[in-house]
Amino acid sequence: MGYQVLEETTNFLSNKHKLLIDGNWLDSSDGKSFDVFNPANKNKIAEVCFASSQDVDKAVSSARNSFDRGVWSGMKPLDRTKILWKWADLLESKIDHISEIEVLDNGMPVVIAKTFIQYGLDWIRYFAGMTDKVLGKNISSALTGNGENFHSYTSLEPIGVVGLILPWNGPFGTFLIKVAPALAAGCSCVVKPAEDTPLSALLLAETALEAGIPPGVLNVLTGDASTGEALVHHKDVDKISFTGSTSVGKKIVNACSHDLKRITLELGGKSPCIIFDDCDLETAIPAAAMAIFTNSGQVCFAGSRLYVQEGVYDEFLNGIAEFSKGLKVGNGFDPDTMLGPLISEIQFNQVNKYVQEGLEEGAEVIIGGDGDNSDGYFFKPTVFTKIDPSMKIAREEIFGPVLAATKFKDLDEVISLANDTQYGLGAGVFTTDVNKAHSVAAKIQSGNVWVNHYGGMHSALPFGGYKQSGWGRELGEDGFKAYTEQKTVSIKLST
Ligand code: NAD
Repeated sequence: MGYQVLEETTNFLSNKHKLLIDGNWLDSSDGKSFDVFNPANKNKIAEVCFASSQDVDKAVSSARNSFDRGVWSGMKPLDRTKILWKWADLLESKIDHISEIEVLDNGMPVVIAKTFIQYGLDWIRYFAGMTDKVLGKNISSALTGNGENFHSYTSLEPIGVVGLILPWNGPFGTFLIKVAPALAAGCSCVVKPAEDTPLSALLLAETALEAGIPPGVLNVLTGDASTGEALVHHKDVDKISFTGSTSVGKKIVNACSHDLKRITLELGGKSPCIIFDDCDLETAIPAAAMAIFTNSGQVCFAGSRLYVQEGVYDEFLNGIAEFSKGLKVGNGFDPDTMLGPLISEIQFNQVNKYVQEGLEEGAEVIIGGDGDNSDGYFFKPTVFTKIDPSMKIAREEIFGPVLAATKFKDLDEVISLANDTQYGLGAGVFTTDVNKAHSVAAKIQSGNVWVNHYGGMHSALPFGGYKQSGWGRELGEDGFKAYTEQKTVSIKLST
């Protein structure tokens, strides 16, 4: 297609992309690099340095040094606020350029890239406002008695050096959901973006330097799992925050057990979207379709299991099929595109394999069911019916545009079906009965419940998973506290 990217995008791509260590852009110590591809046409778009364990050592030592010297953690909170705010302003002025990089690197439609980028900017500004609101508690009264007086309080301190490991499905947003609160709390960061999508992290880092974040406070290492492993094992890293698959999350827990590093995990999901007979169909049909098809299903909280009450089941499934047939699959730069390509050949094959297994296990495809990987990794929106809860397509995270639809009779049945999963990240509920909405929200085992809408994240709302969808929360006050340690101080007073 004839989309012309901005000159700064062309210039950025042609750069030699290096590692950011201690405020300097450096080659990897062993000279290795790797190629980055556009999933919409398989073309190489850039070459980035491959950080070795020696580079991890250098970056961690620079972060440690900056933290221990207090160049950032010791800065006046409002000065940190101003720098973070300036960072957001600078990024905002480059939103067209950054969104082009996200489309080229990840494949997502440009409108989605812009939405995700705007979320990220909101997160910086929200956490920038927290630097002087790191509040502890006064607990003096608990200890006073027997004629003795104590003044006791808690305080929150930055946790130290944090290793932040990112997935490929939302590169810009997953960078900021971790880095913004970590910096606001006063931590020094070493970030490891995903090997499939390393580019926006480099732009974010370049802009952070321009905004005035001091050398060593934000380091970025492009590399693969081995780079992540070296970071996780490093003795001078105080905390790991990881977003990615549940299987790698478990490896990280094992690796961190030797020195009991603090850990936050944002992992996979198989989230239910529940449609009751009394819902507003005009709202619910497009919302349930986009719950799974946004970003081609490559969303951790994608509503990949659809449960529809029997009274509206046929009408709803026809509506979903009609709506989804109209969703254009194509290059993310085409303004009509609603589903871009999957990220890679591996992901394309994985989605295809699940679809074949669904068919072999007896499920029926009512729309889609195949893709085209001749140019890029495009897969059609796919809806399965005749689902048995034991089928792989009903249990495992596919991370593609594949929906498994099931009919249910009543609230008890749907709660039991919805909770029959190892995951617990998100859930959607569509009903006009407020009592039913509250009842389902209370009974669903997941970290997030959306009623009469699906997904969407806000700076102030904690986000995270029950069960094997993760540990801890990002965003909101909890997302900030995740980068702090709590200290209790108790002072015995003489009178
Ligand atoms: P992944 O687990 O394969 O990789 C994630 C990151 O971890 C990459 O940067 C990778 O290089 C690194 N990594 C891999 N092995 C490692 C190891 N042993 N030690 C340290 N680092 C290692 O995940 P992915 O395929 O990039 O992303 C898709 C997964 O992420 C899906 O399961 C999705 O649900 C999940 N995800 C979750 C959320 C959430 O907020 N819960 C958000 C986005 C994605």
